[in-house]
Amino acid sequence: MVSSISSQSVKPAPDAVAVIGAGVIGLSCALEAQRQGFNVTLFDRDGPGLGASFGNAGYLATELIEPLSNPATLRSALSLWLNPKGPLALPLGYIHRIAPWLLRFVLAALPKSLQRSRQALLQLNSASIDAWQRSLDDIGAREQIIKSGYLLVWESPRLAAAQRHQAWLADNDIQTELVQGERLAELEPSLSHRVHHALYFPDAYRVKEPYELCQRLLTAFTERGGQFIQQGVTGLIPAAHEITVNTAKDDYRYDYTILCAGVWSRKLLNSVGIDLPLEAERGYHLTFPTAGAMLRHHIGSAERKFVMGPLASGLRVVGMTELGGLTLPPCKRRFDVLRHHSQQLVPELNTAVLEASEWMGHRPTLPDSLPVIDQHPDYSRLCFAFGNQHLGVTQAAITAELILQLMQKRATSIDITPFGVDRF
Ligand SMILES: Cc1cc2nc3c(=O)[nH]c(=O)nc-3n(C[C@H](O)[C@H](O)[C@H](O)COP(=O)(O)OP(=O)(O)OC[C@H]3O[C@@H](n4cnc5c(N)ncnc54)[C@H](O)[C@@H]3O)c2cc1C
Repeated sequence: MVSSISSQSVKPAPDAVAVIGAGVIGLSCALEAQRQGFNVTLFDRDGPGLGASFGNAGYLATELIEPLSNPATLRSALSLWLNPKGPLALPLGYIHRIAPWLLRFVLAALPKSLQRSRQALLQLNSASIDAWQRSLDDIGAREQIIKSGYLLVWESPRLAAAQRHQAWLADNDIQTELVQGERLAELEPSLSHRVHHALYFPDAYRVKEPYELCQRLLTAFTERGGQFIQQGVTGLIPAAHEITVNTAKDDYRYDYTILCAGVWSRKLLNSVGIDLPLEAERGYHLTFPTAGAMLRHHIGSAERKFVMGPLASGLRVVGMTELGGLTLPPCKRRFDVLRHHSQQLVPELNTAVLEASEWMGHRPTLPDSLPVIDQHPDYSRLCFAFGNQHLGVTQAAITAELILQLMQKRATSIDITPFGVDRF
């Protein structure tokens, strides 16, 4: 049992865990803690699954093992930023705020850091599908992930970039097939003839629908006795044997707390004496509800740098990396850019009557593209699981397993040293 300090100041019964944030990471952690026998309370200031976990592409991108900060990105950053249809945006009013983060981002591309981050992402991503299968099998929801395959496409007729990428992926045990012509048209008939060739990832998975996945996790959690409290957490007070969770309404005490508030974790970290360069990487989506059947696979454009794919809610087109913080409103132009790119690759989307919903969300991103999976350096009962940038859906189930292993002082199934909270 959990105690609320203001109503009763008794010590909580053993094994009470608070999870702060009900995105895909918090929901996965809450379920995993429950599996391990803890008595879990999940907090969110909104409904569960309405943050970044709501509007993502739903693609389990295990092959994305190259950190965002790498020499190729840095070389092309200026041209990507200046291109009005490019994937990178830095609102002028935010540049002074983001400058220290950008410096760390550049440093993360130095060879030693880059290699370390790449290895860490490879380890985490390689374990991610098995972890999802374990989690979803346990709650009878395996239908939530689908082995659908993925196509990374190029419009330029030059094959060299795709061949180089294929060889690099093979070095990392990721198998692909280089496809073009009839084979490509057979795999994905609706793609425009502009697309010249593609790397086909036959073993790739996607989720059925990101929000539905969150709801399914929540239902399993509450049916097993988990408690969801819709209240914003205003502060955390860690101590040796318990953590106090402050909300505007009440204060609660738990044996353990796992902070999973996505990009908003930064503010709560400040309340426990930790300052981390956790930034909001704003991403956008369009969802065409009636166009879901147009594509069979998720498609990534290597040149235009966006992703689209079929979900239960329709055809979703996502993209943009906009370092614009948490308070600026969405920039309408970005939706037009996504519409333009998707129409170029899927001509059927050029129908005037096709309505699309628009959404913008905040990816929680650290300069080295790695999440934090760790404990507070002085209060080991306060645990952290956030910062999964572009890969939070991919990595949620494995992140949850790792944080519970750490919390229970068990050996972790992969080396989590690179995910330390004190690495910056
Ligand atoms: C456009 C876009 C496309 C993407 N595509 C993919 C993809 O295809 N594959 C993939 O793996 N990843 C993808 N991602 C990334 C993925 O969506 C995120 O990494 C993931 O959703 C992060 O989950 P989270 O639970 O950490 O954060 P969130 O989903 O943002 O959840 C954080 C929660 O914390 C709550 N919260 C915040 N502050 C407080 C507080 N003080 N008290 C209580 N609750 C609080 C919020 O309300 C929210 O519900 C994409 C992201 C975007 C934006």
